[in-house]
Amino acid sequence: MKKILVTGGAGFLGSHLCERLLDEGNQVTCLDNYYTGTKANIRRFIGRNGFSLIEQSVIDPLDGNYDEIFNLASPASPPHYQADPIYTFKTSVLGTLNILELARRTGAKVLQASTSEIYGDPLVHPQREEYWGNVNSIGIRSCYDEGKRGAETLMYDYHRVHGLNIRVVRIFNTYGPGMNPQDGRVVSNFIIQALRGDDLTIYGDGSQTRSFCYRDDLVEGIIRLMNAPDAVSFPVNFGNPCEFTIRELAELVLDMTKSPSKLVNLPLPQDDPTQRCPDISRARDHLGWEPRTPLRQGLEKTIDYFRQFVDMPSFSSAG
Ligand code: NAD
Ligand code: UDP
Repeated sequence: MKKILVTGGAGFLGSHLCERLLDEGNQVTCLDNYYTGTKANIRRFIGRNGFSLIEQSVIDPLDGNYDEIFNLASPASPPHYQADPIYTFKTSVLGTLNILELARRTGAKVLQASTSEIYGDPLVHPQREEYWGNVNSIGIRSCYDEGKRGAETLMYDYHRVHGLNIRVVRIFNTYGPGMNPQDGRVVSNFIIQALRGDDLTIYGDGSQTRSFCYRDDLVEGIIRLMNAPDAVSFPVNFGNPCEFTIRELAELVLDMTKSPSKLVNLPLPQDDPTQRCPDISRARDHLGWEPRTPLRQGLEKTIDYFRQFVDMPSFSSAG
C-alpha cells in the first residue's frame, strides 16, 4: 500500500485515477480547489477507507508526506484555461514548483500530467517525443502551452539538480464519462448538442485533426508509467493514434445519436492546431501500452453518460 497524492483529483481524469488507485488498495489523498472539477466527481470516495481530501490550490504552499504524487491540477479545456490565463500559467509553473519542493523534502516520486499542446501547431506529424514543438509564446493558448512546457522544464531540472525520480506524460485529447458537461471541449460539446437537437458547432471548416483516447486507457497508461523502472524518466506520449477530422467526429456523433441536428461553422480560434496525432512507439516499447478502446465504443459509453445532462446548457462559443 502506497501513500499517494493526486492533485486535480476532483477533475475528469483525476477522479478516475483516484478510483483506480483506491481499488488497488492505496491510501489516496485528493487535492483540488474545484476550479473546473467538482465535489460530485469524488463524492463516492468520501468516507471510503484510505481516501482523504485537501481543498486547496497547488499555487499555495503544500505539506504532507507521500510516496508518489500525480500532478494533474490545471484547467485543461481551452475556454476554461483562457478565462484566467495568469491563473492557468501560475497553476502549471508555481503549482509544479510547489509539488517538486514537496517531493525534494520528502523523497516522493512525481508524475507530471503534460500535454500534446507542448507541440503547439506541430510541423512534424505524427508527433514523437523528440520533437520540440511549434508554440506561439504570446498567443491566447500560450498560458497553457508554455505553462506546461515550463512545468516540464522544472521537472527535468529537479531531476538533474536534486536527483528526483520523475515521470512526464504527454496526454493527447482524452474523453469519456465523467467529463463536465460545461467542459467546452469538442467531444462533450458535440454530444450534448446532438442529444439536445442543437447545431453542432464546428470551429473553422472542420478539417483540423485530433486523435481521441478513451479515459480508462489513459488512466491505465499513467499508472504503468508511474510504476515503470527508474530508467523511464523521459517524456512519454499517451493517446490514440487513430486520427479523425473534427468534421468526421461531428458526423459520427450525429450518426450514433440519430440526431436531427445540423452542422454549423464558427470562426476557428487563434492558434488552433491543424493536425495532431501521437506517435506512441515509446509507450508501446517501454510500457507495453496501447489504447484498447475504439472511438465508436468509447463514444457509446460517453453518449450514455451525457444523457443525464441534456437539459443543461452546453459551452458552445468558439474560444
Ligand atoms: P479537468 O479540468 O477535468 O481537471 C483538472 C482538475 O484540476 C480540476 O479538478 C480542477 O479543479 C483542478 N485544478 C485546477 N487548478 C487547480 C489549482 N490551482 N489547484 C488545485 N487544483 C486545481 O481536466 P482533465 O481533462 O481531467 O485534465 C487533467 C490533467 O490532464 C490536466 O493537468 C490537463 O492539463 C492534463 N491533460 C488532459 C488532457 C485531456 O484530454 N483530458 C489532455 C492533455 C493534458
Ligand atoms: N472544436 C470545435 N467545436 C467545439 C469545440 C472544439 O470544432 O465545439 C474544435 C477545436 O477548434 C479544435 C478541436 O475541436 O480544433 C479540439 O478542440 P478541444 O477544445 O476539444 O481540444 P484542443 O485539442 O483544441 O485542446
